[in-house]
Amino acid sequence: MTTMPSVQFDADIIRKLSMSGPRYTSYPTADRFTARFGYGDYLEALAGLTYRGGRRPLSLYLHVPFCDRLCYYCACNKIITKDRSKAATYLGYLKQETAMQGKLFAGMNRVEQLHLGGGTPTYFSNAQMGELMAHLRRHFDFAPDAEGEYSIEIDPRTVDARRIHSLRAQGFNRASLGVQDFDPDVQQAVNRIQPYEETMAVMNAARDAGFRSISVDLIYGLPQQTLRTMEQTLSKIIVANPDRIALYNYAHMPHLFKPQRRISESDLPASAAKLDMLALCISRLTAAGYVYIGMDHFAKPADDLAVAQRQGRLHRNFQGYSTHAETDLVACGVSAISAVNGTYSQNEKTLDEYYAKLDAGRLPIARGYRLGNDDLLRRLVVQRLMCDFALSLASATEGMAVPFREYFAPELRELQAFVADGLVTLDDDWLSVTPKGRLLIRNICMVFDRHLREARLQAAAMPAAALAAQPLRFSRTI
Ligand code: SF4
Repeated sequence: MTTMPSVQFDADIIRKLSMSGPRYTSYPTADRFTARFGYGDYLEALAGLTYRGGRRPLSLYLHVPFCDRLCYYCACNKIITKDRSKAATYLGYLKQETAMQGKLFAGMNRVEQLHLGGGTPTYFSNAQMGELMAHLRRHFDFAPDAEGEYSIEIDPRTVDARRIHSLRAQGFNRASLGVQDFDPDVQQAVNRIQPYEETMAVMNAARDAGFRSISVDLIYGLPQQTLRTMEQTLSKIIVANPDRIALYNYAHMPHLFKPQRRISESDLPASAAKLDMLALCISRLTAAGYVYIGMDHFAKPADDLAVAQRQGRLHRNFQGYSTHAETDLVACGVSAISAVNGTYSQNEKTLDEYYAKLDAGRLPIARGYRLGNDDLLRRLVVQRLMCDFALSLASATEGMAVPFREYFAPELRELQAFVADGLVTLDDDWLSVTPKGRLLIRNICMVFDRHLREARLQAAAMPAAALAAQPLRFSRTI
């Protein structure tokens, strides 16, 4: 029996449609958040949840911004410091913020998902991490290990086997390891020296310690990368056999991310070479048995993500794909973004402002957004397309006076170009993304983005010089 490939690479179509566009970790995207939304609005959203007697489980995200050394490709919100006392101060404030959130969610504080991201969460010492996890357990009701998804981003350069076993004992059951590339020249060019043996030792320790799922991050398009180095890195990764692989396209945007100015453009692979790398990654990983989940993610067929996708239970939030749908996301730490009862709220981005608001006894919310009915509908459409590669038109607008085909008439007209290119199919009820269209899922979702449409209309009305002076806000869709 032949099975349909989960994804199909078509260089001509990709060349034709690659453009700058959002990644849709949220809809609307974070550039729509405003300072008009603040602490009071967040409390109002929470009150709505309490009023509804909402007993939805929670996802918790904690951001730890510190790193020892700078990776030149980095686009994260982080602080490079070797001064460990900063971590102790930060931990105090993080505990204060999580305690405040725990109080606000009293009676509806069941946590089924926890993610520690950064920065480098393992910048906290073993004792600090133990203190933080014990504190979280006092303020939230964690589902048992077998039911909850408790993950942590691990920089293999910062831990040894003993620390990995401690992390498991402290409650983490999923590990996400930063690898990027195994080639020494590439590692040198991005200032991230991480020997293969070191990464493998951490991975093996995570298996021994009983982590349920191990994920690794790779990047293609880095300086000094070639098809040959990529081939070697892929061979090593396939032998290492992680459950999930996130494969990111390096977006060189030095005007937005200062560390990237240290990367010389002449060391970057040309766009044709990058496409060859992507094609290679897809063919090697799918041949090795990985399923393309969507938006840079691959997983083993037995991994929870792939199972959830087959069962139509996959969900997407700021941390990427998740198997826990319908949770409110409470995010703590500098710059973290919460998603609670139809609102987004983002914390202050600098430590000083973050600390100052907590010192004043307030949650450190800097800006946010309340979704209207149109946003909620479009968020559902974008979510289902990103997670299932298919959308039932009737169920998307169920209960609404206007049918889908009428409400989204301009979008469906725009989609005809994708139908003609064989990227989507449209019938009476279903909009389906073909294996060839899956790599271009961001382009397809962009059709449904009302805010982007409005921004484009404004841009079309701008004088050419003013338009050219506008910096690119988003990475390329592929
Ligand atoms: S890539 Fe990760 S480890 Fe490197 S500087 Fe950025 S946040 Fe820190």
